[in-house]
Amino acid sequence: MMRNDIQEVLFSEQQLADKVAELGARISADYEDKNPLVVSVLKGSYVFMADLTRKITIPCNVDFMAVSSYGAGTKTTGEVQIIKDIGSKIDGRHLIIVEDILDSGVTLSFLMKILKARGAASIRLCTLLSKPERRKVDVPVDYLGFEIPDAFVVGYGLDYAEKYRNLPYIGILKPSVYGGE
Ligand code: 5GP
Ligand code: MG
Ligand code: MG
Repeated sequence: MMRNDIQEVLFSEQQLADKVAELGARISADYEDKNPLVVSVLKGSYVFMADLTRKITIPCNVDFMAVSSYGAGTKTTGEVQIIKDIGSKIDGRHLIIVEDILDSGVTLSFLMKILKARGAASIRLCTLLSKPERRKVDVPVDYLGFEIPDAFVVGYGLDYAEKYRNLPYIGILKPSVYGGE
């Protein structure tokens, strides 16, 4: 059973729903008449994106991107590869980037640089989770769900080896699952 692999539930379905509703309300108030383009960074943010956009009560467009850190090693090179690009033209648009988790910040700072260069009118970041202790590159977060300690979490879209994305809550994975003690 998947639940047996979870050491601790950090955020329940209800806690997530409450936070997502709060973020959706803030975005709706901030972007009235701006018709923002809400861009999900796949795959980790797919559940958050689906829930969040349904709490945005103003007109908006949605699109999806997939990126991965260059190289197969555990050390990030700082270069990010675009696996799937957005289809929308972003020139003059107000973008909201939706992420699952902000860790080192390397992925997002690179992504925001690329999108800025394409002429977006504004870019803001909405991330469900952030691990401030792990930050290597400063990335401004406009909409934050929760700050969490430096632990590996799964569920609500987040995976370990492509598993656990379908858990409805967010939990800390038992280190024994990935070869820890
Ligand atoms: P960074 O901010 O280091 O460039 O990368 C963030 C990405 O690393 C996230 O989008 C996510 O894919 C992955 N990541 C970082 N911390 C965790 C975690 O605790 N759990 C999971 N499942 N992925 C994580
Ligand atoms: Mg992500
Ligand atoms: Mg992953």
